[in-house]
Amino acid sequence: MSEIYRSACPLDCFDGCGFKVSVENGIIKRIDGDVSHPFTRGFICPKGRALADRIYGPHRLRHPLLKREGKFVSISWDEAYDIIVKKLDYIKRNFSTLSVAHYYESGSGGLLRSLDNRFFNIYGGVSECSGSLCWGAGNSAQAMDFGMPLSHKPDDMLNSKLIVLWGRNPVYTNIHLVPFIERARKKGAKVLLIDPIATASTKLADYYYSIKAGSDALLALGLAKTIIERGKEDRWFISNRTNGYEKYLSLLKRLDMGWVLHETGLCPEDILNIAGLLMENRPATCYIGYGMQRHAGGGNAVRAIDALWAVLGNVGVRGGGVNYSHRLMSRYIDDGFYAADRATAKREFLRGEMATFLEEADPPVKALFVTKANPLRQIPDTGRLIKALNKIDFKVTLDLFMTDTCEVSDMVLPVTSFLEEEDVIYTTMSRTYLNYAERVIDRIGEARPEWEIFADIAERMGLEGFPHLTSEEWLEMALRPLKRHGITLEDIKKGYIEPPGSTEIPWQDGFMTESGKFEFLNFDLNIRAGDGDEGYTYRLITPHPKDSLHSQSYVGIYDLPYVYINTGEAEKMGILDGDKVLVTSPSGELEGLARPSRAVPVGTVMIYEGQYGVNRLTPIATADLGGQAAIYDARVNIRRL
Ligand code: SF4
Repeated sequence: MSEIYRSACPLDCFDGCGFKVSVENGIIKRIDGDVSHPFTRGFICPKGRALADRIYGPHRLRHPLLKREGKFVSISWDEAYDIIVKKLDYIKRNFSTLSVAHYYESGSGGLLRSLDNRFFNIYGGVSECSGSLCWGAGNSAQAMDFGMPLSHKPDDMLNSKLIVLWGRNPVYTNIHLVPFIERARKKGAKVLLIDPIATASTKLADYYYSIKAGSDALLALGLAKTIIERGKEDRWFISNRTNGYEKYLSLLKRLDMGWVLHETGLCPEDILNIAGLLMENRPATCYIGYGMQRHAGGGNAVRAIDALWAVLGNVGVRGGGVNYSHRLMSRYIDDGFYAADRATAKREFLRGEMATFLEEADPPVKALFVTKANPLRQIPDTGRLIKALNKIDFKVTLDLFMTDTCEVSDMVLPVTSFLEEEDVIYTTMSRTYLNYAERVIDRIGEARPEWEIFADIAERMGLEGFPHLTSEEWLEMALRPLKRHGITLEDIKKGYIEPPGSTEIPWQDGFMTESGKFEFLNFDLNIRAGDGDEGYTYRLITPHPKDSLHSQSYVGIYDLPYVYINTGEAEKMGILDGDKVLVTSPSGELEGLARPSRAVPVGTVMIYEGQYGVNRLTPIATADLGGQAAIYDARVNIRRL
């Protein structure tokens, strides 16, 4: 007889699925979707379903490991703690706490997973990563325009006449949006897809336009100019609810449409057709993907789309909205949870610039702690990062699996999975529902949760401020601001709760900007992708695959990745499907297997991210906003081997 437990997907995904986990004799038998989840409504993707196998799988770490003479050997937790405590004490006494660096990401969701930051704050403050590999420029852009990125409830799509998927590929990365799109289409809504790649989501679209990667800002501005020239802007909205329109308009007037056509690769009829769809179908909703903001001008690309939606009056209305993420929950985590005031020293480095930071840091980095992340697969310019990591005396990685980053570490500590601990898990990539995750099974091997490991280390170091609390006590502390709004942990245990202020239609009653109005961008600033290095012909884009969240399903897999290239271009180079090819960039090279495809436009190479070696090809470059890594400004060449 199975027992059923409540849990939630910890993967870094738009959807934030609620789970029902079946357990027999203490072993997980099945993970299913929870039908009562307001958005995901009972179905889950193969990545979520496979989590049970991964947790019991061969790559799961079960014991603390120390590298001796190049090989990992099991050690006890006591030995591991003794070594760490000695190192941290030594560094603090002889150098600076800033000589300890902490790199973390969102590889394992859960509120308590972020307690790692608390430890480094009470230690005195270390070199912490900031910025983003993923979505930072877009979040900053929407914070400037609206005051905060907020998304509409997906059901509101049923009020839209037009659904624009601008660089978003829900069939691969946001599958729970698909039924809403299909229902809206049945009700008469049209779907417009804009994406350099003819993704699997073209099957949802009535209209598809391929634009050159990195030209999104220019397309949005060109469309706004076209619409305003025809007098089809929403004058009431612009006059009453926006700020900065005159400057924006004067810049639009000077915008050279020839430049727009050249950069986007579209023809004049395409621009008129898209503008026509937007003018004739209001309200329209837009779902933005994260690829467009991984360019030098990526933040302004999102701002230009926000501005286009404001020009159309598609903001703050039913069926409208520019949906990028939903950051409301950041207001409801207690300040004291991270003990940020205990960090007397502070140094930050951008995630995308980790390699250069480690090379140049003064004081130098003597010890690195990695949590919830696999930087060796995710950070641009892997070759340079490996060299920089090799120079660090002491590297500790906390993980569930033996990742590439674990392999180059000196010590690896096994952590428990989301099924072995109680937590509250949620996504802020779309509408947030607080998912309660029960402790479903016993801990596997000697694994411990991060917060317990850091509490143990703090205790041994005599550091105050990281007590041995229960998971429930930590959660109560983190969620104190919610309690002030009448929402308790007990409420979260009973149902799926949205943070206070989650209105169905964001921005109906004012904006969170300083002016209280929507802010138009000043596009005198950078609005283009980076030019890349001379002598490299192709743009390389590295979108999310269907079957893995980042590198997580590729642990232990070193297969050659597929290299997608336009069919016509492959023919010209004599490259056939399955041929071994070499992709080169200024930073490195990668062998792969050619996959000619009509879905890939001329001048573009596509390799799915997360696979071994992909980031050898990507540059250390930073976008205009949010400390975002401009990973999509990579330029490469390709040849048959
Ligand atoms: S990866 Fe996304 S869609 Fe798949 S189960 Fe997890 S939250 Fe749901």
